[in-house]
Amino acid sequence: MNSQYIETQAIRTQLERSDFLEHSNPLYLTSSFIFEDAEDMRASFAEEKKRNIYSRFTNPNTSEFVSKVCKLEGAEDGHAFATGMSAVFSTFAALLDSGDHIVSSRSVFGSTHSLFTKFLPKWNIETSYFKVNEVDKIESLIKPNTKVLYAESPTNPAVDILDLEILGKIAKKHNLIFIIDNCFATPYLQQPIKFGADLVIHSATKLIDGQGRVLGGVTVGRADLIREIYLFSRNTGPALSPFNAWMLSKSLETLVVRVDRHCENALKVAEFLETNINVSWVKYPFLKSHPQHEIAKKQMKLGGNVVAFEVKGGIEAGRKFLNSIQMCSLSANLGDTRSIVTHPASTTHSKLSLEDRLETSITDGLIRISVGLENVNDIIEDLQQALNVE
Ligand SMILES: *Cc1c(COP(=O)(O)O)cnc(C)c1O
Repeated sequence: MNSQYIETQAIRTQLERSDFLEHSNPLYLTSSFIFEDAEDMRASFAEEKKRNIYSRFTNPNTSEFVSKVCKLEGAEDGHAFATGMSAVFSTFAALLDSGDHIVSSRSVFGSTHSLFTKFLPKWNIETSYFKVNEVDKIESLIKPNTKVLYAESPTNPAVDILDLEILGKIAKKHNLIFIIDNCFATPYLQQPIKFGADLVIHSATKLIDGQGRVLGGVTVGRADLIREIYLFSRNTGPALSPFNAWMLSKSLETLVVRVDRHCENALKVAEFLETNINVSWVKYPFLKSHPQHEIAKKQMKLGGNVVAFEVKGGIEAGRKFLNSIQMCSLSANLGDTRSIVTHPASTTHSKLSLEDRLETSITDGLIRISVGLENVNDIIEDLQQALNVE
């Protein structure tokens, strides 16, 4: 079924049915697959036929999940991983050699930043950073050994937007592998390959699962690069479990309706926050006041489910706000059906110096809300009472 519509693709992309003609796709909980005879086994290992051998390599459930994500992102091929971070790590480990250099946005997921600063340097791979408002400086960071241009948009936790079209052009001009972590947008809201991305990475743990149940990751994009990433994964073992793949594939079937409501709720929450006197500013890509609103409109279908705002009164006010929240969860996850609030300066980013925090727009009173699917009136009521506590 070759539909142009993402809803249909997410629901009707299916591997072959078994002899049982099941309607819902079955779960293949098996670590390995059997061969007819010695010749079948030889040909399978020689990759003369495409078939499952061992679930560290491929499994019908992971293949189905990957083929759906490829359809939604418009990608040639892909590979699934146990977590978003194993997708990020495996992508770099498979493609980079000792002595290579990365140019990356400074506003990247915390563990990705640790990978760049603490682990990749062990293999003599260095990273230079640009700030989200310094896209014009990217070209000056590119060196003869630069191999990758890397970014996230929207960024975590400050929901800044980077112009993917501009980044894509720079990557093309300098022959760099352009990689986007598309976790906050999902393939429904934004398809980076259209803007020149060679690879797109997702933490499927977030909006793709969308229900806070399983971990997963996936990298999709150019087939030649995916081949290298697949071989790295096949030999080093960060495979997605068949069970999680089965869950994630089912979750994709409801991605569009969930994300539509997430975005509708998030916009209402953002508009409410703009009117509250205890809030000094609100950032949401589809608010007119967002500094990169025009870029967001150009490259995203809707604004996503994360809203950032600054509560007046700094670190203490941020802590007090968290302590006053009644319904929303205090949790490190995002993209769940349940609304989640975090205060990065006193929690996830508390180990950073004030200077480093400000580099990534993490101000003292910054609150990040992952707006869930509860009735938006309840979400707003909870935020309102927590903001008004003296
Ligand atoms: C959560 C997250 C990751 C890491 O994913 P895990 O599944 O937790 O390993 C990577 N990038 C972004 C933007 C994320 O939000």
